[in-house]
Amino acid sequence: MEKQIAIIGGGIVGATAAYYLSTLPGGQQVKVTLFDDGLGQATTAAAGIISPWLSKRRNQQWYQLAKAGADLYPQLIHDAQLGTDVYQQTGTIVTREIPTDLELLFDLAQERQQTAVTMGSVTTLTAAEVQAKIPLLANAQPGVFISGGARVDGAALVAGLLAQATAKNLTIRRERVHLTAQGQVVTSLGARQFDRVIVAAGAWAKELLAPLGITADVRPQKGQLIELAVKDYPIQENMPVLMPEGERDFVPFGHGKLIVGATHEDDGKFNLQVDPTVT
Ligand SMILES: Cc1cc2nc3c(=O)[nH]c(=O)nc-3n(C[C@H](O)[C@H](O)[C@H](O)COP(=O)(O)OP(=O)(O)OC[C@H]3O[C@@H](n4cnc5c(N)ncnc54)[C@H](O)[C@@H]3O)c2cc1C
Repeated sequence: MEKQIAIIGGGIVGATAAYYLSTLPGGQQVKVTLFDDGLGQATTAAAGIISPWLSKRRNQQWYQLAKAGADLYPQLIHDAQLGTDVYQQTGTIVTREIPTDLELLFDLAQERQQTAVTMGSVTTLTAAEVQAKIPLLANAQPGVFISGGARVDGAALVAGLLAQATAKNLTIRRERVHLTAQGQVVTSLGARQFDRVIVAAGAWAKELLAPLGITADVRPQKGQLIELAVKDYPIQENMPVLMPEGERDFVPFGHGKLIVGATHEDDGKFNLQVDPTVT
């Protein structure tokens, strides 16, 4: 008998679920409907750095989840046959001005490397070596290079995954839905029962799950970044991502696209206004 599955949210999480559901053997027996209103989607706004290994967050569950996510990317890109314009392991460079900070970072990287296969190799770089890898810099600092670090174009990834799934068993509905206490999905056409509901609503998960009596400790955080078109320094496709101290990460894509940012603003609201005073 045909199974009906709903996915609420079409960012990286929902699109990946939709893609893998479309590849199941006997996929014709599964019909998937993805609901997404696209309002403020983090995936299409993100800087796209995939390098969670040197995070100093103490939350071990968060780290294990982020590490598993980084591990999944190469497999996902291979399975969906997407190119280096979408995802590439260019390596990431994390720099520190103070030598003892750099040593601590290197020690942490070596420790994390023991249990993180996708991280690749870890090396220290002098300021001149960092400069050589990223010639756009004016004042390079020494850093730690992680060869498995990557950058992803979230919008292109989601578009690629959803296009493939739509060609098989996926229907996309561009609308906001909510859940009833019984787990029905309420759409503009009324309440509908599905065999399974996958909640991939990102920062909206808390409000979506509330009617079911489920508390999700998820809060919105505003992020702003700048996308630059670099004219005079052609950016090579494999130029590494740079992560200096602070919020000015530097994410070079091919064809001269350069992203700088993002901010992390805990104003506790869904605030999509661009603030021109943030530099
Ligand atoms: C500026 C910025 C920079 C970032 N940079 C990085 C980075 O460099 N590296 C990194 O790892 N992460 C980064 N992130 C975080 C990363 O983007 C998110 O963790 C990730 O994209 C979340 O994916 P998601 O699928 O869970 O949610 P989202 O991509 O937010 O998708 C959720 C979708 O669900 C939809 N939705 C929610 N509720 C409903 C509903 N009731 N009905 C219908 N649709 C609904 C929303 O409209 C949205 O489209 C950044 C985020 C921002 C904002």
